[in-house]
Amino acid sequence: MNLPSSIILIVSLISLLSCTPAAEFNPELVESGIIPQEEWGGERIAVNIEVEPHELRYITLHHGGVTFADTSDAPAYLRNLQSWSRSDRDWVDLPYHYLIDPQGRIYEGRSVLIPGDTNTDYDPTGHALICVLGNFEVAEPNQAQLDAVTSLMALMAERFDLTTDVIGGHKDYATNTVCPGENLYPYLEDGYFRERLREMGFE
Ligand SMILES: [Zn+2]
Repeated sequence: MNLPSSIILIVSLISLLSCTPAAEFNPELVESGIIPQEEWGGERIAVNIEVEPHELRYITLHHGGVTFADTSDAPAYLRNLQSWSRSDRDWVDLPYHYLIDPQGRIYEGRSVLIPGDTNTDYDPTGHALICVLGNFEVAEPNQAQLDAVTSLMALMAERFDLTTDVIGGHKDYATNTVCPGENLYPYLEDGYFRERLREMGFE
């Protein structure tokens, strides 16, 4: 190796190593990481059922509201939730658009292009519903979950051209809930998610 090329190699190694950890956001990467219904054993809405699309205006965070251990079987939980939604609630699908397990894996719920459902006193039309599995009245969210929520919120902002001021929590809209729980809600209150999205370049 002659001198100039070794200098070039060293310089490029240094620039690689000094790369700051990315605040960069790659929507394709987030999208491709979402586990589709087919993969967790879900059954999509039957083609003969008519559903009205909605225009996305809000990004709204929820928690599952029941304890969800790190070792719990998320696909099994989702299959139960889907069948309960249809048989007991008469909903077309899971109430939420995306669900996040304790490892930060993101699962596809109901299509985000149609309104979700709720047992509480607000109209979820226009809301992208992100649900972190667990009861955050008791548990603390971990970093993998916070990162997954951030990525999903960024994906929603990118895909539907939304600003960070439409990020909120369930209890901002409904009076009869503590969702997303007193240990997760502070991340909305103190602007944690909004700040991380701004670092990615969202307004
Ligand atoms: Zn909720």
